[in-house]
Amino acid sequence: MPEAKETVLEIDLGNLAHNYHFLRSKIDKDVKFLSVVKAHAYGSDSVVIAKKLQELGTDYFAVAYVEEGIRLRENGIIKPILVLHPQFTHFEEIIEHCLEPNLYSEKILRSFISTAEKLNQKNYPVHIKFNTGLNRLGFDQPEIPKIRELIKNTSTIKIASIFSHLAASDDWQERDFTVGQIDLFRKMTWELVADLNYEPILHICNTSGVINYPKAAFSMVRSGIGLYGFGNDKTVDPQLKPVVTLKTIISQIRKLDKGATVGYNRVYKVEGPSRIATLPIGHADGINRIYGKQKAGVIVNGKYAPIVGNVCMDIIMIDVTGIECEEGDEVIVFGGPQHAVKFAEAGGTISYELITGVQRRVTRKVIPE
Ligand SMILES: *Cc1c(COP(=O)(O)O)cnc(C)c1O
Repeated sequence: MPEAKETVLEIDLGNLAHNYHFLRSKIDKDVKFLSVVKAHAYGSDSVVIAKKLQELGTDYFAVAYVEEGIRLRENGIIKPILVLHPQFTHFEEIIEHCLEPNLYSEKILRSFISTAEKLNQKNYPVHIKFNTGLNRLGFDQPEIPKIRELIKNTSTIKIASIFSHLAASDDWQERDFTVGQIDLFRKMTWELVADLNYEPILHICNTSGVINYPKAAFSMVRSGIGLYGFGNDKTVDPQLKPVVTLKTIISQIRKLDKGATVGYNRVYKVEGPSRIATLPIGHADGINRIYGKQKAGVIVNGKYAPIVGNVCMDIIMIDVTGIECEEGDEVIVFGGPQHAVKFAEAGGTISYELITGVQRRVTRKVIPE
């Protein structure tokens, strides 16, 4: 592992390949694999990640917004790209860049059909989303006859896939609810495909779905967080490898005596002779103020060092009393030996929010396989 000389987010493509193969091993060979690369591939770099996944053989990609899909198209991604949350204002761009929209309501379905007609499309691939209990995006069961009618009366679009999203696939307490979602999805799908003369791809599992409900893989699974090294499960986590590691460096070390205070508003008072190190990373880089005041800590030469005082915009201070270290030493903020899950929990959040929060001003450094 190279030493950090500044704040960097390391992106380890070998670990990405490991996680991809691990997740694939959980499902049958003929089940397709969709890689979720929305939000800069969970805060890393969507182009770098998608290129690697394309090389590894992923069947599909998903992004949240149209702009994210265009960026992939402009950077050599040729596999199909599902846009999970499109708006009708972007439908022409979707077609222009061969992106495939999720059509989640009657309004959006009608609107896409009319754009596709205007642009003389035939059998344009679209994805129909069912709401099975998450109550976010998607058609409810009573709307299925309407979808059938709209689809029957047009040759401009073709249903590439039908999908739904699980509300609590990571939570065993909610097992009955999840099984209910899966059953409802199966029923709704039968209703819609009954009079199609082709078979759309079916998918409902996200990462925790793959891990906890592999029998519900249908013909495709959608995985995001697992690819980046998080299994939402204490027994699965050690089998995955961290793709992103946020590293920084010690800029300065100061010795302080009892009674001295550190940082804005003097919230940290040292209780005895202390060594305080200053790091070039702050809340503008994605380490929110919530992590300050000793809530979370970083790793310095293998040892835990708490973040003390308030997190500043471009600086945090850590207490390195008793830790052998000097100015210029590398610091691991999260990832690697200190699992990001613990860091996130210290701030009352989850890995998803922590890793997607790393701001663009942090340099991305790719470690090839
Ligand atoms: C983000 C997202 C996923 C990926 O979920 P993970 O838990 O990261 O695997 C899958 N499907 C939909 C609809 C999503 O929005």
